[in-house]
Amino acid sequence: MRIATLLVVLLLTFGAVGGVRAEVKFVAAEPAAHTFQMGALSLTALRDAQILVANDGKTFGLGVSPRAVGNVLRAAGAPPDQITLSVDTLLVRTGRRLVLIDTGLGPRYHGALPGSLKLVGVSPGDVTDVLITHPHPDHIGGLLDAQGRLAFPNAKIRMASPAWMWLKQKAAPAVIGTIAARIQTFEPGATVAPGIRSIALPGHTPGHSGYEIRSGRSRLIDIGDLAHSSIVSLVRPQWAIEFDNDPVRARQTRLRTLAALAGSHERVFAPHFPFPGVGHIVAAKQGFAWKPDPT
Ligand SMILES: [Zn+2]
Repeated sequence: MRIATLLVVLLLTFGAVGGVRAEVKFVAAEPAAHTFQMGALSLTALRDAQILVANDGKTFGLGVSPRAVGNVLRAAGAPPDQITLSVDTLLVRTGRRLVLIDTGLGPRYHGALPGSLKLVGVSPGDVTDVLITHPHPDHIGGLLDAQGRLAFPNAKIRMASPAWMWLKQKAAPAVIGTIAARIQTFEPGATVAPGIRSIALPGHTPGHSGYEIRSGRSRLIDIGDLAHSSIVSLVRPQWAIEFDNDPVRARQTRLRTLAALAGSHERVFAPHFPFPGVGHIVAAKQGFAWKPDPT
């Protein structure tokens, strides 16, 4: 499916990519849930879908030949002609709150999030807070159900104020009308729930935010779309990706944050890395590498 089609259907835009005919396909995935402990907290990675991106020079490695991108993929043992991205979300049980970070593609693209929640006994009405890293369709598509109603009827929807401003300019009035009363914005860096703090990761979109989840000495960072491919975005973090609104700023943020994460050896959740997307960023001979936690 072309991004242009996605734009029409969701009436949202990917910002800088409008008009670019990149080949992006959404693939249904089986529901899956992976629960793990972090300090005293129980966290669950939830699978929603997969995205296949052609290695055609239009999305990954802008300004670099598809051959160079293919070489990076091949060296990691992946097919050189396309990049496979997971679409996953993270559920955090903290005190009496049930916090969901991002909502996947939603019912129009057969997002499996509702089925994945069911696997861990959570019904949509149980979710108290939805935290959004940024309002791209693969992160907010699941805010509405197939009938266009709120998919999480009892939840506050929280995103950084620049993200909400941007979404209001981009999204269909009907979508905005449905979610507006539930939106509570925050300033980047604010604490948004007990033990959860937002982190400004500028460049990908206005207000793009990661989330730091803390319990005692344990920490995990949901990096949002700081990095998309666990291969290309880490081995060559300096390469521009079409999805970034402000490529120069996004590159600075990616290089700085990946170096910091590799240095601190903090645990990471990456929504587009292979499910369940939990592990560590480590320094490598060329850029960085992904070390998934054993499952
Ligand atoms: Zn994304």
